[in-house]
Amino acid sequence: MQERFNKPFTQQEPIPEAGIEAALRVMRSGRLHRYNTVGEEISETALLEEEFAAFTGARYCLAVASGGYALGAALRAIGVGPGDRVLTNGFTLAPVPGAIAAVGAVPVFVEVTEDLTIDLGDLAAKAGQGAKALLLSHMRGHICDMDRLMAICNAAGLPVIEDCAHTMGGAWRGAPSGRHGVVGCYSTQTYKHMNSGEGGLLVSDDADLMARAILLSGSYMLFGRHRAAPPPAAFEAARWITPNVSGRMDNLRAAILRPQLADLPRQIVRWNGLYRAMEAGLADLPGLRLVPRPQEESIVGSSFQFLLPEWGPEAVLALVARCLERGVELKWFGAAEPVAFTSRHDSWRYAPAQSLPQTDRVLAGLIDLRLPLTFAPEDAAQIARIIRAEVSALWQAGVRA
Ligand SMILES: *Cc1c(COP(=O)(O)O)cnc(C)c1O
Repeated sequence: MQERFNKPFTQQEPIPEAGIEAALRVMRSGRLHRYNTVGEEISETALLEEEFAAFTGARYCLAVASGGYALGAALRAIGVGPGDRVLTNGFTLAPVPGAIAAVGAVPVFVEVTEDLTIDLGDLAAKAGQGAKALLLSHMRGHICDMDRLMAICNAAGLPVIEDCAHTMGGAWRGAPSGRHGVVGCYSTQTYKHMNSGEGGLLVSDDADLMARAILLSGSYMLFGRHRAAPPPAAFEAARWITPNVSGRMDNLRAAILRPQLADLPRQIVRWNGLYRAMEAGLADLPGLRLVPRPQEESIVGSSFQFLLPEWGPEAVLALVARCLERGVELKWFGAAEPVAFTSRHDSWRYAPAQSLPQTDRVLAGLIDLRLPLTFAPEDAAQIARIIRAEVSALWQAGVRA
């Protein structure tokens, strides 16, 4: 009998009891809106911002309605507007080019390397071509050489917005992901590192930028109630000219998130245990390339990727089907038609068509799977055994295109 894996790949852990209790308190109070406080009361949302600022070491933090909203607010707050060109990764998730398009700007895609990070050579070439900003996506948690990236962008005068939807808690050379560029954006949507269903966070040290982001999020003139915000003087000019584009977080979500933030360091250790078990289980396997993780990178292994270089599409489809039969859900980024969460530049046809041969080649062999914390390290080891067996069988049968 062949072994079969039996757990769902999309099942997250329950919300911690402390979060459920805090959520009940908020609901019983009836004061779910972040500015609905009595007397000296500090809202859950303001406390979350203060705690997340401390977690990342940022001076300022703003909690918003989603990660995509955070990206849009960051773009607007640095002055990106209609017609501007914004560089971003050719391999990312749909909300990233979507946020660029939402402010009327034009996504310009940068190639990805086979280590799944932005191609710094292509970035250097495109940085000098009149782009207004780089929206850098640390897609699937892979962090590029941030020292080199910042040197390229600083030399070109290009502000960097970091999309840390997959790197909350990660770091490059000890500096938290989201703290290299001018602003870092995070998501607390169910499949990310903290779960409030929907939600987002922005961090920055730039007072003027953060004042604009807070006003954009719909603070009215209540920004004085924030605790991780710049002083009132920073809002003086911006408050007259910044539109309200409502996208606040509410106290219910913040209440659910605060205990998860306190747990995050422990959760990261657990995710990395799953990740390293996968890595060990798939090491030295002919036909399969693991993604090297540099020493400078502190990872959060909430998902796992590997490459099948030079495999033909039929062979990849056969692997996906055979693994699925054995309970292992693999996502292939090379499929011709967009399926589920899209991550290919050519499925975003509101952006001008662009030639990215290197990215296309990488995605043609890229396989991805989630590692929710409802899995134990033995589960990861079993998943790796199943993938290993199926890859070996197909590789020996001959899989080249
Ligand atoms: C999830 C995600 C986002 C946006 O987050 P939402 O909270 O779903 O809007 C942005 N970038 C990447 C890479 C993501 O995976």
